Amino acid sequence: MRIIVAGGDGFCGWPTALYLSEKGHEVTIVDSLVRRKIDDELHSNSVTPIASLQERVDKWRELTGKEIKVYEGDLNHYDFLSLVFKNERPEAFVHFAEQRSAPYSMIDREHAVYTQQNNVLGNLNVLYAIKEFEPDCHLIKLGTMGEYGQPNIDIEEGYIEIEHKGRKDTLPFPKQPGSFYHLTKVHDTHNIMFACKIWGIRATDLNQGVVYGLNTDETKKDPVLANRLDYDGVFGTALNRFVIQSAIGHDMTVYGSGGQTRAFLNIKDTVRCVEIAAENPADVGEFRVFNQFTESFSVQDLAEKTKQAAAELDIEANIKSIENPRIENEDHYYNAVNTNLIDLGLEPHLLTQDVLKEMLKEALEHKDRIIVDNVLPKVTWK
Ligand code: NAD
Repeated sequence: MRIIVAGGDGFCGWPTALYLSEKGHEVTIVDSLVRRKIDDELHSNSVTPIASLQERVDKWRELTGKEIKVYEGDLNHYDFLSLVFKNERPEAFVHFAEQRSAPYSMIDREHAVYTQQNNVLGNLNVLYAIKEFEPDCHLIKLGTMGEYGQPNIDIEEGYIEIEHKGRKDTLPFPKQPGSFYHLTKVHDTHNIMFACKIWGIRATDLNQGVVYGLNTDETKKDPVLANRLDYDGVFGTALNRFVIQSAIGHDMTVYGSGGQTRAFLNIKDTVRCVEIAAENPADVGEFRVFNQFTESFSVQDLAEKTKQAAAELDIEANIKSIENPRIENEDHYYNAVNTNLIDLGLEPHLLTQDVLKEMLKEALEHKDRIIVDNVLPKVTWK
């Protein structure tokens, strides 16, 4: 299958591009490389040293004989995007190419506006490009479990059957996101759902949980193929951040009581879920939603699991509660459904002590690269 991976230089996109290429698909990466520029803006870096995108694909060709094409450019430049569609004629378009940090979107007005423009308008361009050039192309769009918020009822996969004043309907599940970033994903959802209805586009929205880990079989083939690993207070996600804090002897900083519960998955499952979606496309005009996660944990659970794994490696890791920089419920009900991907064949990699120890060893190997000043959160929601 001819597959475009937009955002293919990023944390989820790079291992996905390699995995799909390994499976024999014709993969093309589209990326503006803006994430590398944001590292410079934040004076931050990936824990793992990452090669340039060109070096990465050259190494992949050298090791496997497989070609991954690269287009460097922005989804918000429609002329550029049109050229990519005309040249590549994608059968599936995997869309990872968005600003994905909630704290980044909450820094100030400029960062909120940038995030909403980049994400919502970029996605709208993708919808128009599919309509104009490849109406049969399957859009596989990365959404987030954060779109739903934390309702006091079970979270369904995109839709809920409602009975109201004696009448019944299946409606989009209510969305209560917690940042301007998460709101972009809700806006995207609405735009995609509308485009499917009016133009007959086929789309799958992957409402992904928080991703942990960094390696897949492909990224491990050579140091030049290494994936990025974020740890700073802006881009570092809960579990990855705790692992890195433990590796440098920093307290694991749990926000507030740590009762916040979220859905998680291993990066190895991210790549497989995208493959499953690509191999089982949505129907013409269908807007399909999969909740892409394998387990749920509270932030406190994660810190305790990391502490235990660290102890097995003779590292003493401490858990410290700090004032929560976000506005969020710390004590709430959380139960989300995730059967669609499992029914299509996903076999989850669960969060075991071995997985945590492997992540800790990787962090220890590169601990000299960690800028300690970047570890604590500096962005607040108010
Ligand atoms: P990332 O920041 O590592 O990668 C995103 C990539 O997209 C970067 O390489 C960036 O340069 C590129 N990009 C951004 N805007 C672009 C544009 N307008 N045009 C072209 N390229 C652009 O992020 P990630 O962690 O790999 O996340 C990928 C996707 O998955 C995002 O949409 C994110 O919201 C979603 N997601 C991620 C997680 C997670 O835990 N990492 C969880 C849920 C959902």
